[in-house]
Amino acid sequence: QAKTQGRSRVCCYQPSMQIEVERRLALESDLRRAIEDDRLSLHYQPQVDAYGVIVGAEALLRWEHETRGSVSPAEFIPLAEESNLIVELGEWVLREACRCLQALDAERLPRLSINISPRHFGESDFVTCIERAVGSSGIAPERLFLELTEGVLIDHLQGAVDKMRELKRIGVGLAIDDFGVGYSSLSYLRRLPLDELKIDRSFVQELDDPNDAAIVQTIIAISQHLALDVVAEGVETDDQLAFLSANGCERFQGFFFHRPLTFSALARVLPAPNYMT
Ligand code: C2E
Ligand code: MG
Ligand code: MG
Ligand code: MG
Repeated sequence: QAKTQGRSRVCCYQPSMQIEVERRLALESDLRRAIEDDRLSLHYQPQVDAYGVIVGAEALLRWEHETRGSVSPAEFIPLAEESNLIVELGEWVLREACRCLQALDAERLPRLSINISPRHFGESDFVTCIERAVGSSGIAPERLFLELTEGVLIDHLQGAVDKMRELKRIGVGLAIDDFGVGYSSLSYLRRLPLDELKIDRSFVQELDDPNDAAIVQTIIAISQHLALDVVAEGVETDDQLAFLSANGCERFQGFFFHRPLTFSALARVLPAPNYMT
């Protein structure tokens, strides 16, 4: 008895777990410092229509770490999600995105999407935060799109719907990101004041699989029925593009067209500013 107990207790102090905890704590304090030291930046991945014309972009967070180089948001966003850091990060992204929209007029960059963490969305002053950022930057609110994940809808659907309505009153665009990978219940979709669905790149990349192809066709059909825009993310090949186009998708994002770009690289691929108007 004592022996098994002893053993199970030993189990709780596995050095590998200790290391993992320390690594996360170190990363978290690094991230906190990165926000203060301005080591974060936004990259911008263009979205195009069927002719390859840029119709918008998605802002993607980048962290240039002193020793570890470029750290992927897939690694640090989940970490930041566990603390209030994600709210600070979200506010930083929001301000930076508004600055980008301010710098590039609507003829050059019609709209820009930002990713919203469920935790940030859940803050009681989230709507005020968006309203203030849009208001103080003077941009047309329709140019800012918020990408929400199905995660924001799980716990408090009615609360989320109410918040989304308030956001629509401000005038920003609303999209569901990574559509299809979460708890996509079709019944909730009708209730949401949405503008757009984004097809997750995991489906786009497995289009050879008949199941994934069917899912993609279904998502496109749903968005058509609900009169929503649909964006395919992760488009890498002309075969994928051909399938998506043939099935009615008209908006694309992926390495086949553009990788995420720095602000100045984005400005170079956009049409030249028209100084006459
Ligand atoms: P996401 O919002 O689904 O963003 C799309 C991801 O797919 C980006 O990864 C983008 O670089 C990548 N991607 C786009 N086209 C292609 C392609 O053709 N092939 C491949 N292999 N990948 C492609 P990234 O930048 O690493 O971001 C990963 C995730 O981190 C994002 O997924 C988003 O959930 C999260 N994220 C990024 N920036 C932010 C942010 O500012 N705030 C929050 N809360 N989350 C963010
Ligand atoms: Mg996104
Ligand atoms: Mg996405
Ligand atoms: Mg995705």
